[in-house]
Amino acid sequence: MSDTIQRFMFEHAPVRGEIVHLDATWRAVLERHDYPPAVRGLLGDMMAAAALLIATLKFGGTLIMQIQGNGPVKLLVVECTSDHHMRATAKWSEVPASGDLATLIGAGRFAITLDAGQGAPGYQGVVALEGANVAAALEQYMLRSEQIDTRLWLTTLNERAAGLLLQKLPAADGSDADAWQRATLLAASLKPHELAMHDAPELLRRLYSAEDIRVFKPRPVRFRCTCSRERVTSMLHMLGRTEVDGIIAERGEVEVSCEFCNQRYVFDALETAALFAARVEVAQATRH
Ligand SMILES: [Zn+2]
Repeated sequence: MSDTIQRFMFEHAPVRGEIVHLDATWRAVLERHDYPPAVRGLLGDMMAAAALLIATLKFGGTLIMQIQGNGPVKLLVVECTSDHHMRATAKWSEVPASGDLATLIGAGRFAITLDAGQGAPGYQGVVALEGANVAAALEQYMLRSEQIDTRLWLTTLNERAAGLLLQKLPAADGSDADAWQRATLLAASLKPHELAMHDAPELLRRLYSAEDIRVFKPRPVRFRCTCSRERVTSMLHMLGRTEVDGIIAERGEVEVSCEFCNQRYVFDALETAALFAARVEVAQATRH
């Protein structure tokens, strides 16, 4: 078992779920920045949550989950594409070793953006940050902005982040009305280390052996950053020639590090000059 997301459904009740385990994906995030333990906990939980959430949506593109606050942890960003490529980053100052969301984030906001890419109209929902942890905050968000009953259990260890999501679907006549309560009570009995250590088939056996469960094919999840030299180049274009020339005059080169994967992109004076010269040529070519 590693880096998979597993969908399941109750055959005779309006309940569906997803289980995610992140191993290499999670370690890839930890290898790129030295996050304090409390930040790791939040970031791992958010990665599991983002992977679970996008799995429930009929949407092609990138889900961006963001928590911003005025506490020690300023910003947490997790991105997950609909084919489950993920990246994450955080900004913080002096962070206590542990604490609930209010202690770590302070007054904050919780935002989810769906970016369909290529200029297509997206969607953003923002709510005030509420709840003791990431799972509770997302449950609140789902209830307020989507009116969908959603329950989440999230666990982050050093080597692995994991999560379980349950969602209540609109009930059909004659369906099992108690199933939602049964499903959530059993899930709540799961200990955090059990959620992390057992794979999805084993978790479903332990929780729902008495239920008729349909299990779908597990799908892979992986770390992947979308940064590239081309993207940094267009960012320098937007920054403008005066600004870039100023940095070159002062430091001899322009260095940009990707805040997600820590990849360094360096441009020397010749390269930045060529970059703006190329832009002028393109502009003239389109004018003629
Ligand atoms: Zn990157």
